[in-house]
Amino acid sequence: MWISGENTPDHRTINEFRGKRMQPVIAEVFHAVVEYLVAGNYVKLENYYVDGTKIEADGNKHKVVWAKRKERYEKAVKEQVNELLKQIEAENEAEEAEYGERDLEEMGGRNEDVNGEQLKKKIAELNERLRDKLQKRENTSTRQALKKLESNCLPRLEKYEEQTKVLAGRNSYSKTDPDATCMRMKEDRGAERPWAKPAYNVQVGTEGQFIVGYSVHNKSSDPICLIEHLDGLKQLPKKVVADAAYGSEENYDYLQKHELENYVKYPTFYQDTHHYRNPEIIRKHQFRSDHFEYDPESDQFICPAKKRLSYLYTSKYKTANGYESERRHYECSECQDCPLKPQCTKAKGNRRIQVSFRLIEFRKQARENLTSDLGKELRAKRSVEVETVFGHIKHNMSFRRFHLRDLKKVNTEWGLVSIAHNMRKLAG
Ligand code: SF4
Repeated sequence: MWISGENTPDHRTINEFRGKRMQPVIAEVFHAVVEYLVAGNYVKLENYYVDGTKIEADGNKHKVVWAKRKERYEKAVKEQVNELLKQIEAENEAEEAEYGERDLEEMGGRNEDVNGEQLKKKIAELNERLRDKLQKRENTSTRQALKKLESNCLPRLEKYEEQTKVLAGRNSYSKTDPDATCMRMKEDRGAERPWAKPAYNVQVGTEGQFIVGYSVHNKSSDPICLIEHLDGLKQLPKKVVADAAYGSEENYDYLQKHELENYVKYPTFYQDTHHYRNPEIIRKHQFRSDHFEYDPESDQFICPAKKRLSYLYTSKYKTANGYESERRHYECSECQDCPLKPQCTKAKGNRRIQVSFRLIEFRKQARENLTSDLGKELRAKRSVEVETVFGHIKHNMSFRRFHLRDLKKVNTEWGLVSIAHNMRKLAG
């Protein structure tokens, strides 16, 4: 109150400030705070500990559009459109003979994938063509079919097309905050009926428990957000430290291209570095394809039964971000009589494996880094870096839900939260 000269701002003023006025400058203000931390030697922007958390959106969890449900309804309405068009055709054979099949196909009449625009044209054309016939009393069913197409099917089809645009490849969105996607929340883990809620995926990079980078996404998967997150940083760090969820080929490739030191675990890191005593676990692991010995001369893998898996073909795999990776497929030809088959594969035929040599190389590099003395130190620190920040914001600051709607506004809100966190940390 002292800062504002004892004036009490209206709640609308505060809301407009955080929602609109801060939006274009939030990145700049946040960066100024980070620069201040660097100048004060609080952070060096060297070791970047990155992790993500889901924060509930302000959207209504009961008003959600699900992609799968939308697809089912859309398919049903398209089938109904085709049925009605067929019915109109059959009842007006004379006109159809005159206009021919070409016309219907052009308008999408017989096309399973008829869209709103095509249907609108078709309805207008049918109304024009059958105007005289529709005046007659005996043509009730044609009239009704046309009316159904116009007043029922067309609006539904347009609604589903609009929903497809908003979904943009996501599995769901909230009707009250279309930018929010339904995600499973950590807090609901173990609940009897865990409810996927509209939420945002917040990616945060920390150093010394200060937030030095953040980004907000509406994709629930952490690994596909890393590149976008790092691309948004004003200055790239030297080392990136992250948990096993981020250890994908695409992310490793990005780190290598940008000359960032890779301290990113991968899903089987623990199994590869941990020395098990349980013989049951050791036996199980020998059947993992990445534990098969590779013979580069013959380009074959050797399985635990000392049989060879030969090269079959190469396939390409595209990630959600459009990154393309190559997978080489190998097959063993002597599995039928193998006594180890029940433990090795559930396949009826021979065991097949697919391998990305690039990923193997990246993982090897990550393993070497992570098991070095510095790697061990960074791994130990990682567990108390980002998670502590999330705990502080969610528990101590009680920030468990966004108050604004729309990705841009939510981004601003998280920026303010990050600045507030850094200020509190600075003040001790
Ligand atoms: S099932 Fe085939 S691949 Fe597996 S151990 Fe036996 S021979 Fe080798």
